[in-house]
Amino acid sequence: MFRNSSCKYSLTFKRIKIINHFFVSIILFLSYVVTWAFAGTRTLVRLGIAYLLKKRYIIEFFYGDYCHTCGEFSTRKYLNAFHFNHVYEDKKTVTFTKLSKYLTCSEIVQILVEQEGGGGFTCANCNGVIHYDKHIHLLDQIYEDKNMIKRVLEDRNRVLQKFIPIYKSSEIKDPLRQSMRISDSFEKYLTAINRISKSGCLVTNKALANELLLSVYGVISRFFKRNSVVMKQYVEIDKTKRPTVYTLTNKGVEAISLIQYFKDYFNSI
Ligand SMILES: [Zn+2]
Repeated sequence: MFRNSSCKYSLTFKRIKIINHFFVSIILFLSYVVTWAFAGTRTLVRLGIAYLLKKRYIIEFFYGDYCHTCGEFSTRKYLNAFHFNHVYEDKKTVTFTKLSKYLTCSEIVQILVEQEGGGGFTCANCNGVIHYDKHIHLLDQIYEDKNMIKRVLEDRNRVLQKFIPIYKSSEIKDPLRQSMRISDSFEKYLTAINRISKSGCLVTNKALANELLLSVYGVISRFFKRNSVVMKQYVEIDKTKRPTVYTLTNKGVEAISLIQYFKDYFNSI
């Protein structure tokens, strides 16, 4: 009796142990999946942001902030509508999207320039107009109105005449390169400027030093000098005034709101 009950107890104990092991394994597995999923999401978000920043930098470097062939769409509002237009679409061996995942802006441009015929960025409308050549022989069947055919052809010629391929340039910088070592400081300085401005005070070296708890003012001007290529897009430095005054550019204000957005996003998951 005692033996049987001991055996039963032992069996029950084994079952509980197996069930426990099972639940522990499930929990471990789920925690791996959740960790992997979040890590994957973060990587995708990071790659997505890097893709858009590189795209915007290269477009604005060559053409300014509007589609250079129609002048209608801005990079600020319609960045996703911009495409790299390969002159010989059927001979392309790379795409901007793939290159942007692993390469810096200067490396991307170097490779795109070497594509047969080269290419350049336009909005999706102009991209479609440029590659309308496949349909030109069908225009008579698409449009009954002869004037419409004439307008379509004129529009295509206008876009082709204005189209300028990108070219090699030593002026292209790599704002996202880690060697620029500004990622943390970038956020710190922009946030400090934003906070001081919102308090209604002038953003001077002294005010920044107080905000950033720095004992020496010189660190601030040296930081802006060392990172001038990137920082001048986000901060306007007025040296005509005494003392020097810093203000956020529109891009700087936009960057601050994006930083806040992503901070809130990651804090909520
Ligand atoms: Zn356009």
